[in-house]
This record gives sequence, structure tokens and C-alpha cells, in this order.
Amino acid sequence: MGNLGKLSIFKYEGVSMNDYIFCPICGSKLKEKIINNKKRQYCPNCGFIYYKNPAPTVCGIVRNGNKLLLIKRGIPPHVGSWAFPCGFIEYGENAEEACLRELKEETGITGTIESLLSVRSVDTDEYGSILIINYSVRTDEEILTAGDDATDAGYFTFEEARKLIIPEQLECIENEEALCK
Ligand SMILES: [Zn+2]
Repeated sequence: MGNLGKLSIFKYEGVSMNDYIFCPICGSKLKEKIINNKKRQYCPNCGFIYYKNPAPTVCGIVRNGNKLLLIKRGIPPHVGSWAFPCGFIEYGENAEEACLRELKEETGITGTIESLLSVRSVDTDEYGSILIINYSVRTDEEILTAGDDATDAGYFTFEEARKLIIPEQLECIENEEALCK
């Protein structure tokens, strides 16, 4: 992913969106030391310890008949590439709700969760370590309206989707195809 994409979302070079420089509680400069066998940031003023966790995200592998729904990404990473609709789980929301909300926001359609497809961990420049929960989703809605983080949306055959999709999500197509058999 290019530098331009990075800069457009976050201005601090070499710092991901889940890093801290100052204590989020009291605003003092954080320091580092070994705590529970791992180097962690802590606040020398108030005692805050930053236990850094992966950010949970969801991804919808949405099928309508024998076609897959892809969106063209409007935000980093992979701006301008075709991918399955994805997003972060909001606080207080469960993973399935998040998946269907992202689908609605990015394509205007509603769907139903069919099954859990897979769970993966990925390191990204923008967000650090993220956990991706992939769901198989069904819909019979035809009219797509790209919105939110998507600049376009469309239905594609499995073959077309394989050629278009970002490499990281190819495995999702294989997993979804296995469900069809
Ligand atoms: Zn503090």
C-alpha cells in the first residue's frame, strides 16, 4: 500500500492508529518497560498500562444466487481495489450486527448471516494488528447503492471475483465456494 494512502488517513509516519504517544487518561508522556513478559507502554504519572490488543473487524462474503458482491474501496488500505465489504465492530455491537451494518452502509442492501466462514489475524500499516471475522451472507436484493467507504459496488461471478479481488481475500472465495458444493 502506498504512502499517499497512509498519509490521507493518519499523519504520523511510523505510528499506527492504535499507538499512543501520550497517556489517554492524564495526558503525560508514556514510557516503556517489561510488564507481564512483554514490552508495554505505561504512564509514569497515573499508572495506566497500555495492553495493546488487535482491533476486531468483520467482513461479509455476500452471495446472491451464484454471484458474489464486491465493493470498490474508497479508503486505505487498497483504495480503488475490489474487495468484500469490511469494517470495524463498534463498541456494544456484536460481530454479526457489525457485518450486516457494514453491508448496509457500503451497498445499501440487507442480508442474512448464513455461517461463520473463517477468522484471521492480519498486520496492517494503518490500524496495526487486526482480527478479521469472515461471515458467509445471503441476500436476494439486486439494486446496489455504493456508500460510506465504498465508491462502487457490483455482483460478479466467482471467476470474475477471483480476478478482481485483493489477494488477501482470495481465500474467502475458496471458502465460500466450498460451501456451495
Ligand atoms: Zn496517565
